[in-house]
Amino acid sequence: MRGIYVHLPFCPYICPYCDFAKWRVDADAARTYLEALEVELEMTPSAQAQTLFLGGGTPNTYSTAQIAGLTKRLRAHFSLPDDGEATMEANPDRELCRGLELVRSAGINRLSFGVQSFERSELQTLGRRHSPEDVVAAVEAGRAAGFSNISLDLMFGIPGQSVASWRRSLDAAISLGVEHISAYGLTIEAGTPYARWFEREPSGFIDETTEAELYAVAIEVLGEAGFEQYEISNFARPGSRSVHNENYWANGEYVGLGVGAASYIGGRRSTHTRDLSEYVRAARERQPIPGESEELTGAARLGEATMLALRTREGVDVQAFRNKYGFDFLDYYARVIDELTSVGVLRVDPTHVRLTDRGRFVANDVARAFIA
Ligand code: SF4
Repeated sequence: MRGIYVHLPFCPYICPYCDFAKWRVDADAARTYLEALEVELEMTPSAQAQTLFLGGGTPNTYSTAQIAGLTKRLRAHFSLPDDGEATMEANPDRELCRGLELVRSAGINRLSFGVQSFERSELQTLGRRHSPEDVVAAVEAGRAAGFSNISLDLMFGIPGQSVASWRRSLDAAISLGVEHISAYGLTIEAGTPYARWFEREPSGFIDETTEAELYAVAIEVLGEAGFEQYEISNFARPGSRSVHNENYWANGEYVGLGVGAASYIGGRRSTHTRDLSEYVRAARERQPIPGESEELTGAARLGEATMLALRTREGVDVQAFRNKYGFDFLDYYARVIDELTSVGVLRVDPTHVRLTDRGRFVANDVARAFIA
């Protein structure tokens, strides 16, 4: 299984909490970048892949014709099967969601809208410019264009958010009849305007107890609505899990194209530079894209795979880990497993090791115990 990730880093505006590799859109820079991306694609070995993900940034700052052209070339280059999942992240702004038919006919078959909230005041706090009505219109536009697989990203822990407003956002998302919902906690990333705000006024932010309460509400509300929580932050209607993301959590291989994109091939993880001009220059000169790379072997590889697998509903498949990594998981981690099961955050059955319901709330701490 191999996935292809393509980073399209331009956005119509910059959100104050965002730490992704992104730039405010400028038509010339965006065109130049697309040309560089095409060169990188030509230089990339044309291995078979099963899924495609256009992420960002905001991919739909590009025209639908540009996205369609890129998608066709990517699909051909990586011999993507006709029914292979191909996702485009999109801003639900009404203006940016016109002409989605062209994108659909080029082979994108899943849309992931960055909604974050259905509350006007929360959208404003996040610096987002779309309205709740835009989201409804975007989902309708997606359906009209033939998309039968639509995901919405929602955020909890937004300053000023309450349990009641979070419930309203979850209910609004569910009522749109989408197949998939991702619910992420807000994280304060160093160097962002939000980090400076947090430093000035920590009391303006949601505390850990309330954040845990909001997460519990998401699990409850989405579960009752028939969504399966198949990963810490991801909920799907039966049959609508994200295949591309499941490959990440299975520690599968992926190829990343574009500025800041990461790849994982043959146990080697590499990340492209986050410097846009450096990326464009290297691609134009047909040089290898600068960046960092590390080989994950032995225990480091096992730790990484464990951290990812524990995020999922299925958890660690002990036999599969033995076959793939050559370690007896229960033996190798006996002490850690003992400690974590005794405090009730990990559960062991004869074939799998999983987080308990409580463990989902401290997933990052549990994962860290396996890579320490
Ligand atoms: S739209 Fe997304 S990628 Fe762009 S600045 Fe906002 S959060 Fe970041």
